[in-house]
Amino acid sequence: MSKSYCFASWLIDGTGSPARKDALIRVEEGLVSSVEFPAPEELSRLRRDGPSGVALQSYPASTLLPGLIDCHVHLAMSGKTDQELRVRQLRSEFEQNAPLIQERIETCLGLGIMALRDGGDIGGHALRYARGNAHSPARVKCAGKGWRAPGRYGKIIGRVPEEGSTLAESIRADFPHVDHIKILNSGINSLTEFGKETAPQFGRDELAPAFRQAREHGRKIMVHANGRLPVVFAVDAGCDSIEHGFFMGEENLKKMADHQIFWVPTAVTMKALSAHAGQSGVASMILENQLEQMRRARRLGVPVASGTDAGSFGVRHGLALAEELALMVEAGFSVEETVRNATSVGARLLGLDHELGRIRPGMPANFLVVPGPPADFPRSLAFLSAVYLNGEIITPRAHNGACEI
Ligand SMILES: [Zn+2]
Repeated sequence: MSKSYCFASWLIDGTGSPARKDALIRVEEGLVSSVEFPAPEELSRLRRDGPSGVALQSYPASTLLPGLIDCHVHLAMSGKTDQELRVRQLRSEFEQNAPLIQERIETCLGLGIMALRDGGDIGGHALRYARGNAHSPARVKCAGKGWRAPGRYGKIIGRVPEEGSTLAESIRADFPHVDHIKILNSGINSLTEFGKETAPQFGRDELAPAFRQAREHGRKIMVHANGRLPVVFAVDAGCDSIEHGFFMGEENLKKMADHQIFWVPTAVTMKALSAHAGQSGVASMILENQLEQMRRARRLGVPVASGTDAGSFGVRHGLALAEELALMVEAGFSVEETVRNATSVGARLLGLDHELGRIRPGMPANFLVVPGPPADFPRSLAFLSAVYLNGEIITPRAHNGACEI
């Protein structure tokens, strides 16, 4: 029976509770079998003699935390800013896209990101890849293709309901194949007119029966929605998560806190646009506004999950998560709360809380080690020391060289 010990000077366990000093994690057969905080005398004995007959991996002056989760990605799309390359990839065949999808997943894993929730692509390539690679070490949940209204935003990730069919009737055919349903219920942010709201894509009478039916089939619903009314409709119809949620306003946040509806703010998308696009002024203002909403969400107790929208303009797979987490800290989340958002909250949203999100006895030993004290997080993610997947060390990726695709 394989056994090992892992020591780190600090542990953040993923629940949001304060980091603890000097943690000793015992791993047996890929599972965490105990989490202990030895007294100083016991610790020096262990350091001197080692645990009897068991391998000890020691990470002094380092912090150990659960494997990370990115709750919003588009694996079939490039996060580069080269528009020609982005369009070429969108139009490419599955056979050309599959190796890129694989590389993106491996990049994420090497950066300590162990689960991904895909929000769809026009070819349904991410879903097809995931179905063909069910034993991939990273957990990948896919929507396939999203759903949008005719003539509205979302051509590159969604399709419209069949002519003459309701949304509920149309999504029914998806249930056997997809992990969750993605609905597009607004446009995207205007980069010329700050705060311009678009109308909901679907009415309440279309969303409510569609969501009810998805729930009956055990499928969660992620809704792309910006602006007040598109979010009101999605929340009232009973969605599981609001994606982006720019300009949704306080009333929506309160309702989401009351019903514990998840929010995936993807603030990093606006950071990327403000760094690259010609309209950087408006993108920076939108980012500031989103950080203010995140501050309110924290105070109100909305479950905020980390998601990047990797694959959108300038949002790089894997790398963008550390940036999103830095924005959470900027919005007032403590380091422990930020880790919680990136681990146990995401695990609940993805239905993976039995295997990811926390470090506690009985759960798979899925965790990472970063140098320095908790206060150095998330900057310390750039210097990842180790990634443990089911108790085995996998090679971390160099942060700067990651994902050239
Ligand atoms: Zn998206």
